[in-house]
Amino acid sequence: MTRHTPAIVILGQGSLNTARKIQQLYPDALIHGLVERVEGADRTYVEFGTTLRQLYQQDTPIIALCAAGIVIRTLASVLLEKGAEPPVLAVAEDGSAVVPLLGGLGGVNLMAREIAAGLGVAAAITTSGELRFGTCLLSPPSGYALGDLELGKRFVSDLLGGASVRVEGDAPWLAQAQLPEDPQAALTIRVGCAEREPAADQLLIYPRCVAVAVSARLPDVAAAVREALHAARIALPSLACLLAADTDMANPLLHDAASQLGVALRFVAPATSISQMAEQAVPQLLPPIDVSADLAIAVCRQPLDPQQIGRARGRLAVIGLGPGSDELMAPAVKAELARCTDVLGYETYVRMAGPFRADQVQHCTDNREEMQRARHAFELAAQGRSVIVVSSGDPGVFAMAAAVLEALHESSDPAWHQVDLQILPGISASLATAAQAGAPLGHDFCVLSLSDNLKPWEIIEKRLDLAAQADLAMAFYNPISRSRPWQLGRALEIVARHRAPETPVVLGRDIARPGQSLRVTTLGELTPEQVDMRTMVLIGSSLTCVFAKPGGGEWVYTPRWYGERP
Ligand code: SAH
Repeated sequence: MTRHTPAIVILGQGSLNTARKIQQLYPDALIHGLVERVEGADRTYVEFGTTLRQLYQQDTPIIALCAAGIVIRTLASVLLEKGAEPPVLAVAEDGSAVVPLLGGLGGVNLMAREIAAGLGVAAAITTSGELRFGTCLLSPPSGYALGDLELGKRFVSDLLGGASVRVEGDAPWLAQAQLPEDPQAALTIRVGCAEREPAADQLLIYPRCVAVAVSARLPDVAAAVREALHAARIALPSLACLLAADTDMANPLLHDAASQLGVALRFVAPATSISQMAEQAVPQLLPPIDVSADLAIAVCRQPLDPQQIGRARGRLAVIGLGPGSDELMAPAVKAELARCTDVLGYETYVRMAGPFRADQVQHCTDNREEMQRARHAFELAAQGRSVIVVSSGDPGVFAMAAAVLEALHESSDPAWHQVDLQILPGISASLATAAQAGAPLGHDFCVLSLSDNLKPWEIIEKRLDLAAQADLAMAFYNPISRSRPWQLGRALEIVARHRAPETPVVLGRDIARPGQSLRVTTLGELTPEQVDMRTMVLIGSSLTCVFAKPGGGEWVYTPRWYGERP
């Protein structure tokens, strides 16, 4: 099986040394440390339970440096859900014990042995079959699939009960196993792609050596693949991937079919016939079986690695990191950061989004090269890579999402339009600041950037004037900078024409980042010197009010109603 990169999770500083030793075995793995307890981890988290369950549900192997009991209790609620079961191990803080807990079929014992060897201790393997035969028969290596798990469990227990076994077909990984082999045995391990009826005396293992080339013209692709394989007496678990013409890359029916069948979907250049398409993609093939003009089956002698066949549909995700802290980042964004191959963005944001694994490429650029960055992102994604463009806050608020769409709109390159483009939202600075102050944006409000880099100053003045007249609360992004020193003062003059000097104003600087500050003042007292480019300026409406908090500071809110209190 293809193993995902594990996450090493620690609760205290005392575990960091052991965690680093384990990291040497899995150089791509990141160490997740509890915030304020661990210094020098690669990632921080706030809540152990949420973090562990999220990793588990994302199918990430977990190496937790804490008591086995804590891990069991934490994951208990997600264990009964169907879905991922990644390897989960508990390792003693001091590295003296390695306990595989879950994911027996995901290779947890193998990981336990690797880690134990790295730490110079013995792994606490408790799986009888594994102990006796030195391998887990029910967890064949990458490129092979087990036929039936329940029958398999009985098969292994028969072996443990003293029965002998013979191996039919090509199973190189079993060479080192200590199996009770006997050419006359009643029990058989059968390795091959032929379709067979399940039987109690056979352990069926299918090499994933079949690719099926399909055309998007088929009315039901998944059903057609199942029927064709059955008619050819080829077992479904031997299917390694679907192949289709790259002109159909964005066709959702093909993607649905591949996910229904649980296999990868790979694309190749269209060819004169469907079987030729298969031959071009997989050179080591036996002659393809032409089923129809829309479907051909290709069988190989060896398991196929779908990653090496044709190419995947590229993906481009424009993500919002939120204002800065890890806990205000959406889980969908975290999952995207974990899966991407390339990250593009302004250096500060790329650093904020990291750390990244050694296999993830970082492309840092200057903040002002937005269109160039957007085009670069499409070039990479069109090659089949999984690309992220990072923004702070929300990507659709004065950030990269619009630039990426503009680049796509301008392009006539079909490969760019085939890319799987996703915009993943984040908490924007105005909302993060408002939440800390209370609810200053609790009624109608408007969001403005005071930067005149991409729009004439006159339109900014006009919008400010009309928004102030309309009594909207306001959020100013990009309020001031070294190259735009006077604009904020002018903006405040315009607002002051329509709004009283007592109007509450909130200044949030570096919100949700180290050294954050929040200040409540009034329009009359606000001067441009109190504001810099890392500040969010929120201006209240005529109804915005302020009252004291018991421990100091103030709550600011704008009521939900307008006019007379209902
Ligand atoms: N896409 C971002 C905004 C980018 S514009 C978002 O949705 O938040 C950059 C401006 O946002 C800065 O000049 C500042 O006014 C504001 N800003 C961004 N992050 C901030 C933070 N953590 N605290 C306060 N203001 C912030």
